[in-house]
Amino acid sequence: MIIRMSEIPPEGMRFLGEEQSSILDLENEKDISVNGPLYYDLYAQVAPGELIVRGSVGVEMSFRCSRCGEVFQTKVKDGAFVAVREAGMDESVDLTEEIREAIILTFPNYPVCKVDCKGLCVQCGVSLNREKCNCRKREENVWTVLDGLKLK
Ligand SMILES: [Zn+2]
Ligand SMILES: [Zn+2]
Repeated sequence: MIIRMSEIPPEGMRFLGEEQSSILDLENEKDISVNGPLYYDLYAQVAPGELIVRGSVGVEMSFRCSRCGEVFQTKVKDGAFVAVREAGMDESVDLTEEIREAIILTFPNYPVCKVDCKGLCVQCGVSLNREKCNCRKREENVWTVLDGLKLK
């Protein structure tokens, strides 16, 4: 996204719109996909020799859940985006790199499809969000048997 310094009135100017999400350059990422345009709601102000931009940037994305392995959609948003750049009155400022960085820093380290995702059973591999398995129960039974043996 490019802002022309000469466009901005002394009181500042709001930029609201969408940008091709290809500027995020995430096409080759495994387990991550971008599902729509990048949207922004920014307020630009000019100070002597400087451009100050604040606001929010966001995009709809898909991640793979780190617990159950399902792909899920979520909104990635930086609501406190700030960029300050030196620029003269007749210059244009390209904020693409700042926006890209802000979005990437907002990615979850361990994406989960929902807070209470139960994940996969470590023994049989079923998704515990969708079905129950008997592994736990069996394990408990084994210990009960062993406890019984020890007592003898
Ligand atoms: Zn999950
Ligand atoms: Zn199981």
